[in-house]
Amino acid sequence: MNSADLQQAYEKMGISKEVFALCQDVEASLKERFERIDRITECNQLKVLRAMQKNQVAEAHFAPTTGYGYNDLGRETLEKVYADIFGTEAALVRSQITCGTHALALALSANLRPGDELLSPVGRPYDTMEEIIGIRPSKGSLSEYGITYKQVELLENGEFDYDAIKKAITPKTKLASIQRSKGYLTRPTFSVAQIGELIAFIKKINPDIICMVDNCYGEFVELTEPSDVGADMVVGSLIKNPGGGLAPIGGYICGTKECVENAYYRLTAPGLGGEVGATLNVNREFFQGLFQAPQVVNGALKGAIFAATLYERLGFACNPAAAEERHDIIQAVTFHDPEKVVAFCEGIQYAAPVDSHVTPTPWAMPGYDCDVIMAAGAFISGASIELSADAPMRDPYTVYFQGGLSYHHAKFGIMKSLAQLEKKGLWAFEKE
Ligand SMILES: *Cc1c(COP(=O)(O)O)cnc(C)c1O
Repeated sequence: MNSADLQQAYEKMGISKEVFALCQDVEASLKERFERIDRITECNQLKVLRAMQKNQVAEAHFAPTTGYGYNDLGRETLEKVYADIFGTEAALVRSQITCGTHALALALSANLRPGDELLSPVGRPYDTMEEIIGIRPSKGSLSEYGITYKQVELLENGEFDYDAIKKAITPKTKLASIQRSKGYLTRPTFSVAQIGELIAFIKKINPDIICMVDNCYGEFVELTEPSDVGADMVVGSLIKNPGGGLAPIGGYICGTKECVENAYYRLTAPGLGGEVGATLNVNREFFQGLFQAPQVVNGALKGAIFAATLYERLGFACNPAAAEERHDIIQAVTFHDPEKVVAFCEGIQYAAPVDSHVTPTPWAMPGYDCDVIMAAGAFISGASIELSADAPMRDPYTVYFQGGLSYHHAKFGIMKSLAQLEKKGLWAFEKE
């Protein structure tokens, strides 16, 4: 097998010789970078394995339960495994959680009471959080239950505004919500170390303030998680990193016994708590997905770095920049042009194993305040740990790209996005 064979294989998939050559060159420049990522993955793989062995995961844990789901050993063991991986007292990992937004809404509504105040010390939260909080009026929002909200903007350089955070904290402040990943913003994603500093600062003012981290897209990117640096709760989606592409649904909340117990009672009913909740037939997929998750995150991270390196070379601003250290798997590329955004997303779609024959178009997705274009051809509907790209159709026309169940698929998706820009005349090779 030589590079001509590879080139031909790509050519059959609609990749020109020029795009292939450029991408091979980009990849060759990333060898050492990729090796460093492999080392982190190796540690995280062992961390997951260790938690599974310690809790004696066994075939019997894969059996489905029905009805009330009392004594579901698989569910109970999985939650212990999650708690060990995240270094927390307790964990709630359930298929009844429909998505990340739901897990966050659950964590918040379970731990806040009327009269309490919620603080975001990291600026504007993820779009769908606005309706949970009631920043945009919504049925059932925290605001309707008499829970107030304060937000402290980040400094212009993306750092925490410690003075303003201190001023914003009052005796009413019950919970601080810290979003690790940038979501649909251009601010930087925070490292676990930065989050640890912020939590220490808040706890010094009042140790009783619950520090919750929206951990979406951050799991297994670093050696540690926010719960290792003082977070009382970490919250995420199983159709992102920790589901490893196999979990068909679900969310998790790992944290202190108190916080997680509150979440159990809120998820089911007061008096019932975590003792109920049949797992039907998802236990094996939850375990196996978690086991695969470090490897899947490895591929997604390499894909993101490959994308940033390629598109920076072509003159587009990338966030994080190609050379920057990674704290989540999201890669933003800013095009300043709606047509390029659409072409990029089309390329990602045409690279998918599922629905590669459909063309994505912008639409008014619930929970978002402008049209959004989403490209995804996933085995699990909407799973953004699988190769996917999305962009709110608003200035500065930034595409957020993430996932890929393997590096090679992520790489191909990016190559295809460039091929699509080329095909639509939105980008051309400069002949030297
Ligand atoms: C994905 C995500 C969420 C939750 O989104 P869902 O689509 O509901 O799973 C929340 N916060 C951040 C930062 C996210 O990336």
